Amino acid sequence: MSNQVVVAIVGGGPAGLFCAFELLNSKIEGIEVHLYEQTGGVGKKFLVAGNSGLNLTHSEKQEEFAKKYFKDEARFRSLLKDFNANDLIEWANTLGTETFIGTSGRVFPKKMKAADILHQWMNSLKSHENFHLHLKHSLTNITADGDLIFKHDHSNKTQKADYYILAMGGGSWTKTGSDGAWMEYIEALGVKTAPLKAMNCGFEINWSKHFQDKVDRGFVKNIVVSNESQNARGEIMLTPYGVEGGAVYAISNGLRDELEKSVSTKLHIDFKPDLKRQDVIEKLSRRNKDSLTNRLRKNLNFDKIATSLLYEVLDRSKAQEDVNYLAAMVKDCEIEVLRARPMDEAISTSGGVCFESLNDDLSAIKNNQYYFVGEMLDFEAPTGGYLLQGCFSTAYRVVKSIKEKEGINV
Ligand SMILES: Cc1cc2nc3c(=O)[nH]c(=O)nc-3n(C[C@H](O)[C@H](O)[C@H](O)COP(=O)(O)OP(=O)(O)OC[C@H]3O[C@@H](n4cnc5c(N)ncnc54)[C@H](O)[C@@H]3O)c2cc1C
Repeated sequence: MSNQVVVAIVGGGPAGLFCAFELLNSKIEGIEVHLYEQTGGVGKKFLVAGNSGLNLTHSEKQEEFAKKYFKDEARFRSLLKDFNANDLIEWANTLGTETFIGTSGRVFPKKMKAADILHQWMNSLKSHENFHLHLKHSLTNITADGDLIFKHDHSNKTQKADYYILAMGGGSWTKTGSDGAWMEYIEALGVKTAPLKAMNCGFEINWSKHFQDKVDRGFVKNIVVSNESQNARGEIMLTPYGVEGGAVYAISNGLRDELEKSVSTKLHIDFKPDLKRQDVIEKLSRRNKDSLTNRLRKNLNFDKIATSLLYEVLDRSKAQEDVNYLAAMVKDCEIEVLRARPMDEAISTSGGVCFESLNDDLSAIKNNQYYFVGEMLDFEAPTGGYLLQGCFSTAYRVVKSIKEKEGINV
């Protein structure tokens, strides 16, 4: 077929699968899509994400949304102009997935589980006869000429294509296939990479034995956590080794970077972010004949877990006597953080292919047949649906570019 356009996608996560979906529905004449995946199935991390409630995207305004991509705010403002949260919701609707907005503004599927969505998604791809899925094919090398070498059944295979889309994910949860091994050979394509690092991860704290036994996986809600340069409102989860949860994840890149420079760093907790310190003093001055626990509970609605956390840090006899000290601890409880949990446990990773090596359409400046999408790109964002939205928006940009190159009006 002379007008055949062959696209090879490497990586069967949401970013690669969305590229395949968009390409097969792109009206590019003679399009043939080959999707290579190193494990025995696609979307394994997507399924893992579904285990804790699949958060597809977020409902906040686009300006605020783009800020969640930290250093890449401007780039994502542009990517979101092309494909934003509403576009993602609309696309999910086409697979039969209705969505709802949770109290935190996060967007979730209403009834369908991640496995159902993936099933519909794959059915749609497989309904195209020009879609070719190559499972258990691992990209193991890239030659100086840019040929992709796949390992399958102990032998090597190459795939020639007009366009190559690399969607191999980050470096956490390696059992899902996202092993980051591509970092070893990707620079052959003339792109720079930044080291993969844990993002949206837990942190280790030297809790007392008593505390470890008491608060396994307890939540402290509606607090503000901060480090040297960031703060986030939300909840944290206390674990025997330290701390996790949405608010900690949101400042995890800052904590991680501080720990790279120093043996430990400080996590600050404001238990009552809606009250000024003077208000806290006034409230705590009431019922001052009560026990400390009761004063905290009755005057400030402290529950058992929050109280245990505060007691882990403060000097109780001093707090009983000195309301100013107690209020100061309620507003700024400082905890020493020792290290980030291992990268493999992280929800996402920072680092990967640097945007400075890429054109705006996410193709390599040195070889614009090769595109990069999803988590293998060097961006970071907190949890809240920003990660999947990032995968979909980058994938959309790449397919838009291929369509333009093939003369399709976008
Ligand atoms: C516990 C958990 C919960 C999460 N919850 C959410 C959530 O609710 N909302 C949200 O937005 N995000 C969430 N995420 C993050 C989200 O799952 C990822 O951002 C997303 O899966 C990244 O998509 P991707 O396609 O870029 O990469 P991946 O999903 O990592 O897929 C990459 C694929 O490439 C394949 N691959 C890798 N190397 C090769 C190779 N050499 N050859 C062939 N194939 C290869 C891998 O096997 C894998 O299938 C969560 C992540 C985790 C771990």
